[in-house]
Amino acid sequence: MPNPLVPAFTPSPAPAPGGAVINAAAPGGAVINAAAPGGAVINAAAPEGAVINAAALQGDGLGCHSGAEQLLAAANGAGKSEVLARYAQDYPKGPHDQPQSMCPAFGSLRVGLRMRRTATVLSGSACCVYGLTFTSHFYGARRTVGYVPFNSETLVTGKLFEDIREAVYKLADPAQYDAIIVTNLCVPTASGVPLQLLPREINGVRIIGIDVPGFGVPTHAEAKDVLCGAMLKYARNEAMQGPVAAPRGGRSEKPTVTLVGEMFPVDPVGIGMMLEPMGLAPGPVVPTREWRELYAALDCTVVAAIHPFYTASLREFDAAGRAIVASAPVGYEGTEAWLQGVGRAANVAQEKIDAAKNRVLPAIRAALAATPVRGRMTLSGYEGSELLVARLLVESGADVRYVGTACPRTPWSEPDREWLAAKGIHVQYRASLEQDLAAMREFQPDLAIGTTPVVQAAKEATIPALYFTNLISARPLMGPAGAGSLAAVVNAALGNKGRFEAMKAFFEGVGDGYAAGIWEEVPSDRPEFRAQVKRQVIKLQKARTAQEMG
Ligand code: SF4
Repeated sequence: MPNPLVPAFTPSPAPAPGGAVINAAAPGGAVINAAAPGGAVINAAAPEGAVINAAALQGDGLGCHSGAEQLLAAANGAGKSEVLARYAQDYPKGPHDQPQSMCPAFGSLRVGLRMRRTATVLSGSACCVYGLTFTSHFYGARRTVGYVPFNSETLVTGKLFEDIREAVYKLADPAQYDAIIVTNLCVPTASGVPLQLLPREINGVRIIGIDVPGFGVPTHAEAKDVLCGAMLKYARNEAMQGPVAAPRGGRSEKPTVTLVGEMFPVDPVGIGMMLEPMGLAPGPVVPTREWRELYAALDCTVVAAIHPFYTASLREFDAAGRAIVASAPVGYEGTEAWLQGVGRAANVAQEKIDAAKNRVLPAIRAALAATPVRGRMTLSGYEGSELLVARLLVESGADVRYVGTACPRTPWSEPDREWLAAKGIHVQYRASLEQDLAAMREFQPDLAIGTTPVVQAAKEATIPALYFTNLISARPLMGPAGAGSLAAVVNAALGNKGRFEAMKAFFEGVGDGYAAGIWEEVPSDRPEFRAQVKRQVIKLQKARTAQEMG
């Protein structure tokens, strides 16, 4: 069937930008507007008189601790209201409106750093950039993170934007890069640095400017979507305008299923084997590993929303007329429903769908039966796959009581939520750390699977615990391979209860918290001192920031 989205593919490996528009507008000649609040600077070249807001600087470094309201108000007044309104719609906030895990921008940064021929440039406070680059290299980025520093003068006069623009021009070498991604962190977003005015393309190198503030994007998971959505939009426009580069391995002869969501490398292979009897093939995994895969991802028949929080990305697939299927092939019932959903969406005959089911479902049932899991559990995380993991644990025999996810409720996790709710399991979207801890205390599980602070609290309470990100989401989950993969690690952890109790007994009586240790005189708690010091630190921090920037 001809694909209306991608009229033709060029076999050439060279990227074909196809009608991209070079926007040479630059924000020259910033004008000080005495009437603007807080000495705001109106940038005459910014769209609709975008305001570069100096007042936002007073919140520097506070983005993920406090001051979100100030920063949000500053950003809204500085020409970012449209993008922030879209984020508010795409990523509705939960009981807490501050990120409770790492800086959200780490999500989009990591997506960019994992793409071939892609440069990433950050614009933000030095402390934020230090943290983000440190974390990137801790996770093995082995790639340079570009940084355009600023001070109050370069920010309020519009020079920061000029510096970013200059950096982008210097970087834009088509021999090295397909794309350059520039990210505004909290302060430049709050100050209205207009990345939308960067050229759309320089020498054939695509320029993607995104705002990823902690006060507008709640989790690092959703920041991945911010970038993926922006890139898919760009790639879709390119494909609409003319031929684009073919996938590295050539275009699939079979209709493909694009897989949205990062997953263990074995999973797409396993999904491919499950799709084969239906005459379908797996397409690229989004986030993709290079630019041309974006075209192949769009050039699919069905999109599988494996991770349910890719709202902006799925909007692009929807705009391209692609059918989207929720949930994922996990466990027996999940795989059965998913194969049916994908087969139907791809207009596959029921006999072929049944053939696909008959090939894998018995193997999944056998794997689940061979590797049972027993015990009461609570589970929480911020990866977006929490509901899928819970389904697999339940089908393996676990007594799961609570599932917390930092991600929001979307239509794409609805089948999983319904399945879990039907079994009496509480699903908490946008779960706060406090809710995760309360669930652990209420249900007294044999095993708590969670984020670092949850695991820490569980161990203190002699409850065996597993870190979701490192130990659970780094395993296959789909199809027969996933069916037996969790049992080994979960059962080993469940067996640790005795060791925790022995440790607790050994250290019994040495105190905890402020009184931990062996004392001649046990210290008294003085919470008022801590509160006083905290107030002083915040004051000092604000004064230093104002001094540095002023
Ligand atoms: S950019 Fe990230 S680290 Fe910096 S203030 Fe914002 S949320 Fe915090």
